[in-house]
Amino acid sequence: MPCSAERPAALAALETELASLAGQGLQRRRRIVEGVCGPLVEVDGRTQLAFASNDYLGLAGHRDIVAAAREGAERYGIGSGASHLVSGHSRAHELLEARLAGFVGMPRALGFCTGYMANLAVIPALLGRNDAVFADRLNHASLVDAAVLSRAEHHRFPHRDLAALERQLARSEAPRKLIATDAVFSMDGDIAPLPGLLDLAQKHDAWLLADDAHGFGVLGPQGRGTLAHFGLASPRLILMGTLGKAAGVAGAFVAAHETVIEWLLQRSRPYIFTTAAPPLLAHALLTAIDLIERGDARRAHLNALIARLRDGLNGLRWPLADSRTPIQPLIIGDNHATLAVAQALDAQGIWTPAIRPPTVPRGEARLRISLTAAHDEVQVERLVSALRALA
Ligand SMILES: *Cc1c(COP(=O)(O)O)cnc(C)c1O
Repeated sequence: MPCSAERPAALAALETELASLAGQGLQRRRRIVEGVCGPLVEVDGRTQLAFASNDYLGLAGHRDIVAAAREGAERYGIGSGASHLVSGHSRAHELLEARLAGFVGMPRALGFCTGYMANLAVIPALLGRNDAVFADRLNHASLVDAAVLSRAEHHRFPHRDLAALERQLARSEAPRKLIATDAVFSMDGDIAPLPGLLDLAQKHDAWLLADDAHGFGVLGPQGRGTLAHFGLASPRLILMGTLGKAAGVAGAFVAAHETVIEWLLQRSRPYIFTTAAPPLLAHALLTAIDLIERGDARRAHLNALIARLRDGLNGLRWPLADSRTPIQPLIIGDNHATLAVAQALDAQGIWTPAIRPPTVPRGEARLRISLTAAHDEVQVERLVSALRALA
C-alpha cells in the first residue's frame, strides 16, 4: 500500500494527551532487564538492587522449576495448539488443576492463561444486566474491568468497610449478587476482612470472589493462601489465584464448587476463546507448587525481612502503609516527589517502583517496596539506610 502523507487528526490528539501525562509526572517507561528475575538485576547496563517484583518466594529463577520447564518442553513441546475445549487441554493442564484444587482445599480448579483473564471470566459468567457487583474501592483493575464487562450494576464500597457494604447489599434488589475483593490489596498490602465478607455473602445470598494474587504461596499454612489463612470454606466462595507471582511462573486458576467450575468451563469466554497456555508451564508449575508447599523456611525468612524493614523505616517522614505482607508501600503523596525519591534511590543502584495514579488514588503516590525470600538482611538494611538519608 502506498504511504500517504495524510496525517490523522486523532494522532495529534494522542500526542497532546501523551504530553499532558508527561507534564503531570504520569508518563511511564519500561526498563530492560537482562537475565533472571531476582534481587540483583542488570538494568540499562547497571546492576540494581531491586525491590520491585512480585516473586515473593524467590522462585522465578529456581533451578528445579527451570529443569521442570525443560522436561515439560521435551515431553509436550511448546505450543498447546488450540483452546482447551478444542484440542489444547493436555495431561499437564489436567494434573495441575487437580494439584491446585487439592492444595487450596477446594472441590475443583480451572486453569487460565493470566489472572486478568480469570477475573474477566468469572464475573460476566455469573452475572448479567440487572445483577449487582459489590466491589472494594481499591480492587485490582481486572476486577473493575470484569464488573464493567458483565453489565451488572457496579457498587463500590469504601476500602474494607463492612458496614457500608452491608447497607449497599440491603438496598439492592438485584436477583444475583457478587462481592468482589482483592484478598491482599496489590498496592497497599493489607488483607481483606474475608470472614466478615463471607458472613455478609451468606446473609444476602451473594457470591464472594476473592482475588488472591498476592496471598497465594505467601499466607496460610504451607502458603495455601488467604482463605486458608482464615480457615474459610463455603460453596459461595470463588478463589482466583495467580501463578506468575509467588509461584514464579505464569498463569492463574479459579477454584470453587464443582458446579461453578463446570459453568465457567462451559460458558466463560476468556476460558473458551483463547489458546491454552503452553503445557510446559503447567508441568513446571507442578514443581513450583511442591516448592511452595515445602517453603516454610522461605516464608519465615520473608517475614523476618518484613519485620526488619518496618522497624528500620519506623518514624520516617513518609509513613509505611499498615501491611504485614511483602508489599510495603511508602506513601509519599505527590507524583513528582515520589518520582524524585525513586530517582534518588536509582542513582544509588536501588530500584523501587514509583506507583502513581491511576494505579492508586490521586495524591497517594507511593514507592511500592516489595520484599522476597531471595533478599537478604544486608540488602534490606541498604534500602533502609538510603531512605533514612533521603528523608
Ligand atoms: C497481578 C494481579 C492480577 C492479574 O494477574 P496476572 O496473572 O498478572 O494477569 C489480578 N489481580 C490482582 C490483585 C493482581 O495483583
